[in-house]
Amino acid sequence: MIAQSIHINGIVQGVGFRPFVARLARKVSICGWVRNDPDGVHILAQGSNSQLTQFYQHLQSDAPEPARIINIAKQQCEIDTNYLHTFEIVASEHDGSRDTLISPDIATCPDCLDELFDQDNRRYHYPFINCTNCGPRFTIIEDLPYDRLATSMHEFPMCASCSDEYNNENDRRYHAQPNACFTCGPQLWWCENNPDSPTQIHNIIKASNIVDSDAIIKRTACALSEGKIATIKGLGGWHLACNATNEQAVSTLRARKHRPAKPLALMVKDIKAAHELCILSPSEETALLSSVRPIVLCQRKKETPVTHSVANTLPELGIMLPSTPIQHLLFEYIDFPIVMTSGNRSGEPIVAKDKDALKYLASIADVFLGNNRAIVARYDDSVVRVLENESTQIIRRARGIAPSPLIDTSSTTSSTTLSQASTQTKTQTQARTQAQQQKAASVIFAAGSEQKSTFCFLRDKRAYISQHLGDLETLGAWNAWQDAFNTYSKLFDLHPEILTCDKHPEYVSSKWARAHSSKHDFPLIEVQHHHAHIASIMGENNLFEPVIGIALDGTGYGNDGTIWGGEILLTTRQKFTREWHLPLFPLLGGAAAIKDPRRIAYSLLRTFNQMENPQFKTFLESLPHYQILEQMYDKNLNAPLCSSMGRLFDGISALLQLCQNVSYDGEAACLLEAQAQKESINTAYNHSQTQLSALSFHEYIAQVITKKCIDISNKTGVYDIALGGGCMANRLLFKLLNTMLASEGFTIYTNKELPPNDGCISYGQAIVAQAQVLGE
Ligand code: ZN
Ligand code: ZN
Ligand code: FE
Repeated sequence: MIAQSIHINGIVQGVGFRPFVARLARKVSICGWVRNDPDGVHILAQGSNSQLTQFYQHLQSDAPEPARIINIAKQQCEIDTNYLHTFEIVASEHDGSRDTLISPDIATCPDCLDELFDQDNRRYHYPFINCTNCGPRFTIIEDLPYDRLATSMHEFPMCASCSDEYNNENDRRYHAQPNACFTCGPQLWWCENNPDSPTQIHNIIKASNIVDSDAIIKRTACALSEGKIATIKGLGGWHLACNATNEQAVSTLRARKHRPAKPLALMVKDIKAAHELCILSPSEETALLSSVRPIVLCQRKKETPVTHSVANTLPELGIMLPSTPIQHLLFEYIDFPIVMTSGNRSGEPIVAKDKDALKYLASIADVFLGNNRAIVARYDDSVVRVLENESTQIIRRARGIAPSPLIDTSSTTSSTTLSQASTQTKTQTQARTQAQQQKAASVIFAAGSEQKSTFCFLRDKRAYISQHLGDLETLGAWNAWQDAFNTYSKLFDLHPEILTCDKHPEYVSSKWARAHSSKHDFPLIEVQHHHAHIASIMGENNLFEPVIGIALDGTGYGNDGTIWGGEILLTTRQKFTREWHLPLFPLLGGAAAIKDPRRIAYSLLRTFNQMENPQFKTFLESLPHYQILEQMYDKNLNAPLCSSMGRLFDGISALLQLCQNVSYDGEAACLLEAQAQKESINTAYNHSQTQLSALSFHEYIAQVITKKCIDISNKTGVYDIALGGGCMANRLLFKLLNTMLASEGFTIYTNKELPPNDGCISYGQAIVAQAQVLGE
């Protein structure tokens, strides 16, 4: 017999990891123990050589899905004669240090689903069923260590049956903190708006047993069937729901929510129902069914029962599967897809508190399906997309993914700088000095961007990146940002010592960072927006050598005071040089041009001398305020210059008369991409290159960028490309660039676990700041 001690870290707590280890050990006849410690899971494994090999292999390959093993280390150790015949789960040796990773929320697992619909089970139809493999996690945690008293479950003392499960190490609910049942746990409540007096709520029902609970679910399902709008409390906030096949219901929701055109996410009963709406690849199916249960953007089928105004003419639908027992129960009584969108007022964060739901959502929803378990951390649904190469692109990183940190698993760093790039090689890598190691341990706080904002705490190799916190334009959003800051700071015991932010003079997060740094005398590092985009890719891919950074983006404050966004930067982690950018054109009316891209279109025609081009005659004739625009252009009035690729796409979209007014970020560009996709399928469009078309424009841009990259690599000898920025959400542009650049022999790196849009900015800022502090 041999003994091995195995140490595993990563997300291995609160995900049913110890019961899994114990089951596996017994299966392959390993003796010993498993234990949770603040630094991860420790195992003593005793057995024959072949048993140990088998055990070790299955530990990694069969781990429960929500678990994420970051590191696994084993070493030979002394045989413990107390464990020659058994394998046990033993008590933790707490030392109070906070190095645990908190699991994100996990969708209801198959075992719990079986029980939910098993009439003989004591949790039959219980809307809060969960176990160590599933259920709420981060959204209910108030403090660490993660146990029931430190969560919003503390209000629900366990009944005897639940306690027995909780204390039985062989039970699936052993130490499941949110464990609960009809007798002891959270319950549903329901009410509706009084149609005669819309601000008044009536018909309140509070469930205390299965009969009332079922009645509440049925009432909600019935309201949805009748075309009413329901607001339903989810894990991280309140959703708004309605029948997605009922045009009247969807347009009423849009009107009440002041959301005229932005596509709405859908929830369907199961994967079969998903197939009825979309053409799904195996990877898309996997993404839909994963324990994250994100919204997956998939190609819609030609004929679906979904009503037009859900996504208008766009080729994709955002769909997700139920992730909570409440949602599964609802689908027992409805047989149509439902719109499932964040419950918020325009621009505000998702509503989390019951009293806010009753106050703010009463003007939108007809009925309320609530429950008495408090939401501690607010979370939107995550959004992902599967790309042509089957990799997953994250568009919004939230429920089910955050707060898992990004962990740099590379062990080598190099000290190459831009000027040394051509002379130094990777073999000259130097180990960190002691002073550097000390600095590496300090906490860098990155304040992030203004839109699609996140923040990031970086300590050495671990980056704790907040969930998507939305656009910080409203006071409500800014307050939510600060709440999240306090939560992360407390839970992960992270206190900023070095601050970093965007160079933009007006970003509210930058202003906060500047004020906070002067108040506490912390160093502040301001990072250019597109440098941060590229640095985020370098961080995610462990790149330390210079890269050609392509940042195709909406808006970012440039070093020269103009608006950047179509940039090729020769980049290290520390700094960059701007090698190329889109030719500058004025945004007539500044922000007004973003809302009305026809202003950009006019500006493009003037800038690129196309006013006489007959193709654009009808556009110009239909243009309102022609003379005002002419004056603005001629006299340079309120006409800030930009090199933004996002704005160029907006302008071209307007020029091709695909879009006039924009009601949500990226609308014009989405319509341009949709048109180009259509053209690429219809071969008649091909080779009619004399005229500008959506497709020819996409191809032209990819060609120009590729050509510039060849020039830059000829000059610098750099063949690694980091490709990022918000325009990478354009599937076609992303594909064209990847194909063309790869065929020229470039190695292309992109964001992996972070979105290519501004959700990655905070992490990028932290990477730049860390490199500058360490001089790496
Ligand atoms: Zn479960
Ligand atoms: Zn109970
Ligand atoms: Fe950006």
